[in-house]
Amino acid sequence: MKITLNREGSRNYTKTSYPVRYGRYSEVEHNGYHYQFNLNGEIKHITGTGPDWPHPAEWLKRTATNDWLYYSTGNYYAGVVDLFGEYYFPYPDYPTNCLFKENPFGRQSVKKALNRAEEITLHVLAQSRQYTSAGDAELLDFLARTGGSTSGRMREKADRLRRILKARVTVLPPDCRHVDYDVIPVMISDGCLYNCSFCEVKSGLDLRCRTRKKITDQLHGLREFYGTDLVNYNSIYLGQHDALAGGPDDIIFSAETSYEILNIEESYMKDPKLFLFGSAESFLRMDRSFWASLDRLPFYTYVNLGLESFDDRTLEFLKKPVNSQVMLEAFHRMLDLNRRCENIEITANFLLGEELPAGHIPALLNNIGESLGKHKAKGCIYMSPLKSSRDTKKLLEEFRNIKHRSRMDTFLYLIQKL
Ligand code: SF4
Repeated sequence: MKITLNREGSRNYTKTSYPVRYGRYSEVEHNGYHYQFNLNGEIKHITGTGPDWPHPAEWLKRTATNDWLYYSTGNYYAGVVDLFGEYYFPYPDYPTNCLFKENPFGRQSVKKALNRAEEITLHVLAQSRQYTSAGDAELLDFLARTGGSTSGRMREKADRLRRILKARVTVLPPDCRHVDYDVIPVMISDGCLYNCSFCEVKSGLDLRCRTRKKITDQLHGLREFYGTDLVNYNSIYLGQHDALAGGPDDIIFSAETSYEILNIEESYMKDPKLFLFGSAESFLRMDRSFWASLDRLPFYTYVNLGLESFDDRTLEFLKKPVNSQVMLEAFHRMLDLNRRCENIEITANFLLGEELPAGHIPALLNNIGESLGKHKAKGCIYMSPLKSSRDTKKLLEEFRNIKHRSRMDTFLYLIQKL
């Protein structure tokens, strides 16, 4: 077993066609696998080095809630970067709205790697017992932390995170791809305004904002939870489904307090980011002074709007109680803010599904196509496939047609949990 402590990965999130590791970490090579551990001694990545591993540039990543993702180069689906804006496609180990039917978790080599993840912890624990009298304090510390991070402990820790948040983070804004989904979630509200029929991620609760006291207590809990590894995070997700529905001052308070309590200024990672979701109506309610305050924060902020459609029949079909005029107004405000604000980028989600009324795609193309004039450099469109859609080949064709005609960057939205 070869252990390398204190490795320093990239300090900037980048988009490259080869694997990049971020932040500070330690690495163990054992029995044909590379294991990367975070500063709490918890396993974060696994890469196979043997001949049975699917691809030398592919890897497994464990999330804060103990799910696994398999990062694929997308061999079978040329153009991953065209479809998602990223060079790797993260297959989750849970059902989602993915249009690709491949299941890397069914492969023997991937199953073996996940089983080995448990063994390596036990192996390190045995080493730590053997080395109790060795003089290297850093090595002992690593062995003790890693040896204590068994899969049972990791499951308990994921439950602890849900208790701190008092919520399950069922979906992250698609813009979180810009930081490889390494965000600290801070729940500032619960529920949402509409509880639409098509939505697979809603909590079913009516919208309620949390008090500043509850948000501050949560932040102290999160600081303790992330512990030594906090230094590897510089991005915050203000949840949940419609954080913009909170009072403007409370949103700014939450962002500033997160920056302070989570010590973002001292992060190893550069260029802090803030992510939040908003609905058309909560977005339109915000005045110029709110956007000016948000623009001055020490974060680059992404706001992702669920507009879904510009067609009234489609909105009725989706049981979204908002009309197309409101969606259009929100879209034009988004274009305006993207022009005016230096540190804010608004993006919008629309649906993709074979069962949607015929007017949906033409209405979308009328507004994101030629009528926009020149290509918009800022802000993008995410197309989210409905989970009930079966003909994935047809949806991919439809998506490519939309992308081809859109005057904004247009990508597929893969629903990912924290
Ligand atoms: S789409 Fe948004 S508003 Fe509608 S139910 Fe889901 S989370 Fe709520």
